[in-house]
Amino acid sequence: MARLYDSRKRIVVTGGAGFLGSHLIDRLLADGHEVLCVDNLFTGTKRNIEHLSGQPLFEFMRHDVTFPLYVEADEIYNLACPASPIHYQHDPVQTTKTSVHGAINMLGLAKRLKCRILQASTSEVYGDPEVHPQREDYWGKVNPIGVRSCYDEGKRCAETLFFDYHRQNGLEIKVARIFNTYGPRMHPADGRVVSNFIVQALKNEPITIYGDGSQTRSFCYVDDLIDGLVKLMDSPADFIGPVNIGNPNEFTIRELAEKVIALTGSKGGLVMEPLPQDDPRQRRPDITLARDRLGWAPKTQLDEGLKATIGYFRSTLAQPSRRRAPAMRAGAAPVSLVPFSAR
Ligand code: NAD
Ligand code: UDP
Ligand code: UDP
Repeated sequence: MARLYDSRKRIVVTGGAGFLGSHLIDRLLADGHEVLCVDNLFTGTKRNIEHLSGQPLFEFMRHDVTFPLYVEADEIYNLACPASPIHYQHDPVQTTKTSVHGAINMLGLAKRLKCRILQASTSEVYGDPEVHPQREDYWGKVNPIGVRSCYDEGKRCAETLFFDYHRQNGLEIKVARIFNTYGPRMHPADGRVVSNFIVQALKNEPITIYGDGSQTRSFCYVDDLIDGLVKLMDSPADFIGPVNIGNPNEFTIRELAEKVIALTGSKGGLVMEPLPQDDPRQRRPDITLARDRLGWAPKTQLDEGLKATIGYFRSTLAQPSRRRAPAMRAGAAPVSLVPFSAR
């Protein structure tokens, strides 16, 4: 339900032109807030927010969070960071800068404004976990020098910064550890497993399973995830996290491939490819904390969410300007995103 005008907030969403950020902005605008989307369009696109142009409560600012940002706001959601392995490994130094310098700048902004700030952290802080399912008090098993480290360690350092700004400056922080999330507006060429499998299946191409497909992930539908982030931001000040936000239903990658084939009727079959370096064997959130403190749990089953996502990709691929986007492979040349002018 829309909130009353007097409870309207000015909210900054960094990474707002990306997959999750654009859904978050839709939700915040629907709740009656004013939103400033801050994004450098590295992996995000203007298409994700084009439906908002002309909305008086929405504003877009092209800006890189590794540089200082001086704006006014009542709340900040810090989502800016490439999230897919192909994207964050494309320029790993920039990935770490985005996580670390970006966090410092957004925390500095929140400190000046004395406003609440939420960090989009990740299940990657658990690395290749030895504890299963993962609870927030598990410290993780992360390779500090591998190809995924720019993302994993960058996000871990960002969490450290959030907690130190909280302890040192009394800043009101919220840290969400997001597990694999999927849904409409994923980039068709970002190499993540759900988008890759659906794009391949819709083109009747072989679905690329890395390794033997026995590794597991737990997939959360985007609407559920956004609901969790907003509940966390709105939670009492003494609850700062970190808190897992994800769907605890766990599937092997092969099971996911079989589901996508069944739902699309693909004739392309499967092909096995090498497992990327440091690929986690298993991942499933323990969401007891989110249930207890936020009253949150995901509602969307994988089949239902996949159907909605397949519908999105079907219409996206039917549009001529997007048809060229291939599903990306691990170790492939750096992703060629939509032309800069089209973003
Ligand atoms: P995405 O790549 O679609 O969105 C990231 C956005 O950040 C893009 O719009 C990109 O242009 C922007 N960005 C990147 N670097 C920037 C910079 N230096 N300055 C300003 N903007 C910058 O990814 P997503 O899936 O929407 O992920 C959003 C956030 O959620 C990320 O922080 C990611 O680490 C986190 N997360 C996502 C998942 C998931 O499954 N989608 C899981 C765990 C964590
Ligand atoms: N900063 C910003 N916007 C602001 C305030 C600060 O981008 O409104 C950035 C600025 O680059 C600063 C960083 O946040 O260096 C950290 O700010 P903080 O106040 O913690 O430390 P400072 O570096 O100013 O001592
Ligand atoms: N994966 C796969 N085929 C693909 C893309 C990914 O088998 O075309 C695997 C990948 O090796 C990993 C899992 O699917 O085990 C999830 O990969 P994704 O990149 O989506 O997310 P993350 O590894 O960061 O959880």
